[in-house]
Amino acid sequence: MTPIHILKKVFGYEKFRPLQQEIIDHILEKKDTLVIMPTGVGKSICYQIPALIFDGLTIVVSPLISLMTDQVQQLRQLGVNAVILNSAITTSEYQLNLKKIVSGESKILYIAPESLLKEEIQTILLSIKVDCLTIDEAHCISEWGHDFRPEYRQLGQLRKKFNDAVVVGLTATATPRVQDDIQKSLNFSKSSKFIASFNRENLLLRVIIRTDPLQQTLAFLKNYENQSGIIYCFSRKQVDTLAEQLNAYGYSARPYHAGLSDSERHKNQDLFIKDKVQIVVATIAFGMGINKSNVRFVLHYNLPKNLESYYQEIGRSGRDGLTSECLLLFSYSDINKIQYFIEQKENELERTVAKKHLQAMVKFCESTVCRRIPLINYFGEEFNTENCGMCDVCLSKQNELQDLTIKAQMFLSAVKRTGEIFGATHVIDVLTGSKSEKVLSNKHNKLSVYGVGKETSKKEWMVISQHLINKSLLIRDEEFGSLRLTEKSAAVLQKKEKVFAKIQVQEESFKKIKEPDQAYDTKLFEILRKKRKELAEAQDIPPYMIFSDKVIAHMATYFPQNQKEMMNISGVGEVKFQQYGKIFLALIKLYCVEYKITGQREQIKLQKIKERAETKPRHIEIGDAFNDGLSINDLVKKFDIKQGTILSHLYKYLLEGFDLRVDGLQKLSKVTQDVQKKIFTEFSREGTDKLKPIFDKYNDVVSYDDLHLLRIIYLTH
Ligand code: ADP
Ligand code: ZN
Repeated sequence: MTPIHILKKVFGYEKFRPLQQEIIDHILEKKDTLVIMPTGVGKSICYQIPALIFDGLTIVVSPLISLMTDQVQQLRQLGVNAVILNSAITTSEYQLNLKKIVSGESKILYIAPESLLKEEIQTILLSIKVDCLTIDEAHCISEWGHDFRPEYRQLGQLRKKFNDAVVVGLTATATPRVQDDIQKSLNFSKSSKFIASFNRENLLLRVIIRTDPLQQTLAFLKNYENQSGIIYCFSRKQVDTLAEQLNAYGYSARPYHAGLSDSERHKNQDLFIKDKVQIVVATIAFGMGINKSNVRFVLHYNLPKNLESYYQEIGRSGRDGLTSECLLLFSYSDINKIQYFIEQKENELERTVAKKHLQAMVKFCESTVCRRIPLINYFGEEFNTENCGMCDVCLSKQNELQDLTIKAQMFLSAVKRTGEIFGATHVIDVLTGSKSEKVLSNKHNKLSVYGVGKETSKKEWMVISQHLINKSLLIRDEEFGSLRLTEKSAAVLQKKEKVFAKIQVQEESFKKIKEPDQAYDTKLFEILRKKRKELAEAQDIPPYMIFSDKVIAHMATYFPQNQKEMMNISGVGEVKFQQYGKIFLALIKLYCVEYKITGQREQIKLQKIKERAETKPRHIEIGDAFNDGLSINDLVKKFDIKQGTILSHLYKYLLEGFDLRVDGLQKLSKVTQDVQKKIFTEFSREGTDKLKPIFDKYNDVVSYDDLHLLRIIYLTH
């Protein structure tokens, strides 16, 4: 069988994701291969498909027992007979597994590095044909990685013994230094590396100023009833407190941190994985070694100390490809805390590096351009976008700059009059007329600025203060958090300069975005989810192993009525159909009869389901809807996103070779014919991929929205 056949038959997927096919071909040619892909993109298939094609055995070295168990269970659900050799199984199981390997009944072996290094195991493995040696989490080889393991170092030597085996390394670690180190340790050639993009398109990124974290968290959780998520906190104490508070508010939440006993940690993790507990509140220690695919949100209660940790932590959500939300509560006081810890480090170089990393993290939080730009560029990947449509900056409806001059003057003068020694919280207390102890004892209630900013909420003042810092109108003392004026602030106070900014109303950020993927029948979805849980409990496996959330969401969208239609759902292969698909099919049919669902089905081209499931649904959905006759305004309402974002999606649609109807666009354009002509000339000279140079040149006569629109008009004429 060819790779694509196996993909369809065993895994139930229609198409390879980017790079998978190339990687598989490379491995099948027996060329050493280093695979660098972010979590959730699909590394495992890259070695599992070759393993099913090779005659001999594929050995997979993995550092964590939980990861091995997860992989083997998933493969068994697909009808693939994979086995484990590690310290967690019984002696008789161990013997049985060895037998299966020697007889060729099992073609994939998961093993811990220390077991593989044992003489007696090697003797057995060297007596049979081994075609592939896969090293999962390959960054464990490198001392520069975040998870160095000494036993991994010896794998480089070991490979020499398995002459005929191609060696495959897999990791989600992005730093070039670690990548080089892996290649050197394993003796790989330079050309062996495949790097996938680090942009995880299905993660919705948001940062808001932390004002009242518990209330903000509760407001956020309202959108995620019964859906799994992780909340990361700075300290163990914070974890315990928050977990208790959430329980008091009726959520099922469990703590996870290094202060708990092994068995408690294990139990809490297990409950979470099996959907028996909704939320885990954790310190950074949580997440390694879990493959749960239906984590719908990650909330950072505190600032992560660098972008690597942040990226890793948010990466634990949305592995199934459905939209998942990542919210960070940003507070300047956290910067101080982290800085304090950095100062405790003995080594000067370490301190300098840690400070740099922290700075990048803060820059990301303060970003006024798409958040993906600072994030992805940080990992050395070139990334540019006008509008990703999946971060708070790009989604903000607040397109227009607001004149903040008067409020800025109030704030700056309050800073000045309180002596430039207080932090934002106190300054805001003064502006809003608080009777706090600190205000009264300093006699700040006697100042002329006392209470002048009452009309504006504390939250908004917080956001304004952040803008003033970003614009260098204020300097924040790194150590104490106090605010000082700068040379630039004088001009504002003397009314010589105005201040403009886009201010986002915080509450707006909690509104869930409407997503085509989630346009499923929620009632049916719940019925299927319940059945899934029941089936999972009977076997004591996590529910996502039966079908992912995405798979049942698609079932509840397309209402398959027979085997063929069911197997058209992405993620339903042959064995899964026999084991579970039939049961789900019966439930869906019953549901359709009960609710008389027939008409809806007719409109759906069922043979297209799988293909569509793997295309990026958002821009296709939007493009299709536009072609079906909806106006741009209709689309803004339907998807609840701003016009610029809709237009960016349409642009992407065009770039992928789809046609767009042309009527209705021209009349939306507000610019004169003359300007339009000039802009078109620019497009023909400069191309259409970058709007910024054109905007910079013509920003007095056109806005970005105009340019987005003109670009589409230009391309459709
Ligand atoms: P990683 O190891 O990179 O974190 P996995 O190998 O666990 O990612 O894959 C993530 C998810 O994507 C899994 O549910 C997997 O089955 C699914 N997947 C992988 N390749 C494809 C594909 N070509 N089409 C559809 N789904 C895929
Ligand atoms: Zn963005």
